[in-house]
Amino acid sequence: MTTMMNTMNTMNTTLPNAVPNLDPAIESIRAKVLAGQRLTLEDGAVLYETRDIWSVIELAKLVRDRMHPGVAYYNINRHLNYTNVCALSCKFCEFARKQGDEGAYTRDLDYIKEQGHKALESGATEMHIVGGLNPYLPFAYYTEMLSALREIVPQVHLKAFTAVELVHLARIAKVYKRDDTKVGVRWVLERLKEAGLGSLPGGGAEVFDERVHKEAFKSKIGAHEWLDVHLVAHELGLNTNCTMLYGHVDKQDERLRHMEILRRSQDQALHRLGYTGDGDGYIAQGIVESEQISAPVITLSGEGATLPVARLAEPGLHDVPVKSNKDPGSASRATEETNQTAGGYYQTITPLPFFPDGSDLENLPGPTGLENLRTLAITRLMLDNFPHVKAFWIMQSLPMAQVMLEAGADDIDGTVVWYDITKAVGKGTHQETTELDLKRAIEEAGYTPIERDTLYRPVVRSGRDWRVEG
Ligand code: SF4
Repeated sequence: MTTMMNTMNTMNTTLPNAVPNLDPAIESIRAKVLAGQRLTLEDGAVLYETRDIWSVIELAKLVRDRMHPGVAYYNINRHLNYTNVCALSCKFCEFARKQGDEGAYTRDLDYIKEQGHKALESGATEMHIVGGLNPYLPFAYYTEMLSALREIVPQVHLKAFTAVELVHLARIAKVYKRDDTKVGVRWVLERLKEAGLGSLPGGGAEVFDERVHKEAFKSKIGAHEWLDVHLVAHELGLNTNCTMLYGHVDKQDERLRHMEILRRSQDQALHRLGYTGDGDGYIAQGIVESEQISAPVITLSGEGATLPVARLAEPGLHDVPVKSNKDPGSASRATEETNQTAGGYYQTITPLPFFPDGSDLENLPGPTGLENLRTLAITRLMLDNFPHVKAFWIMQSLPMAQVMLEAGADDIDGTVVWYDITKAVGKGTHQETTELDLKRAIEEAGYTPIERDTLYRPVVRSGRDWRVEG
C-alpha cells in the first residue's frame, strides 16, 4: 500500500495543474473588461502572448454575450465579383488577373442583371459586390450596374465596393485629388448612392502599417486614404464595415495598431451620431502622421451600453433608432436617448486569415487554427465600440466559424453562393451553404439564429418572400 501511495504522490507532482495556463497577467485585463473599459495596446500584447488562450476566449465571449445575449446572426446573400482584371498586383492576392490573361473576366450588364434575378429567386436580402481595379471600365459602368440591379431587385441591399475601388473610381471619373482624397470620393459616393448603393463592405484594409503596406501591397491605398473613404461614407449616412487580412508579413503588434486605428475611427463616427464618452481625444497609435481624432473614447462593450441600429441611408431620413442591450426588445428614438443625427458608422469587423496558395506569398505558411481563434477573440476585446464581429465562414470554414461564436463572434455571414476573392485550399469559386446549415451551426453553439439584413435588422421570412421586422 505504501509503495502504491508513493507512486500516486509521484504521479500527482508530475500531473499538470487543473488550470495549467492560468496567467496572472490576464487578471488586470479581466477587471477592465468587466468594467467595460478600453484595453491598451499593451493589454493586447498580453492577450497575444499569454499561454492562457482559454481566458482570452472566455473574456471575448463575455463581451459578445453582453452585446448580443443569446443570439447570433446570419443572412441570405449573394456575392458578385464583376471583374477580376486589376491594375495592381498585391502580393497576397490570388484573385487578380491582367487583361487577356487566362481566367480574366469582366461581367457585362446582362450577366449582372441575371445575377439580380437569381438573387430575387433565392430570396437574398443582400448583394455583396466587389471587384478588381479594372482600368478599362468607365465610371458609367458602375452607376449602370447599381441602377440595373436597383430596378430588378429594389428591396435587396446593395453592399458594394471597397475603399480602394472607390479611390480607383474617383481616378477614372477624373475627380481624384492626390492632396485630398475626400473630395473625389465624395463625388463618387454621392453618385453611387443615388444609383442604389446601400453600404460599403469594408475589404482592402489589410493591416494598417506602413512596413506591411510597403512589403505586401505597395501600390494599393494606405491607411489614411482607406480611413478617408470610410469617413466620407459615414458623413453621407452610409454604414460601412471593415476587415483585417492577417497572417502574411504582418506581426502581432501591427495587428493591434490596426485595431487601435479602427476603434479611434469608430469613436469619431459614434461621436458624430451623438454618443458621448470618456476623456479627450488622443492620437491613434500606428500611423506616424495620424491626425488627432477629437472624439472621446466611446465603448459599447460595457454592461447596458447602447448599440446603434441604422436605417437605410435614404435622402431626408436622418433619425436613427437605438437599441439598448440591457433590453434587446426596446427601441427608442435617437433624439430621446442619444441625440443622434445623420451619419453612418462601422457595423462589423471581420478578421480574415491569409491563404497563401496561388499568391506571391505562397512560401508563407498562413495562420493556424489557434491563431485564428485567438485573433478573433482579441479583435472582440480590442474593438470595444464595434457592434459586430464576424466569423466569415468562407475563410474560416463553417465548423471553425461555429467555434468562433464561443470566442467573440456574433455573426457567421450568409449563404454566399459564388466567391472568387479567396478560398480554402482545393475549393472552387462555388462556395455555398444553406440557411439550414447556418442555423444548425448557430443552434448547436447554443444561440438562437437571427436572420438579419445588411444593417442587422431582423428579417421575417416566408420562403423567398421576406420583410424587415419593425
Ligand atoms: S487585392 Fe485588390 S487591388 Fe490588390 S491586386 Fe487583388 S484585386 Fe487588385
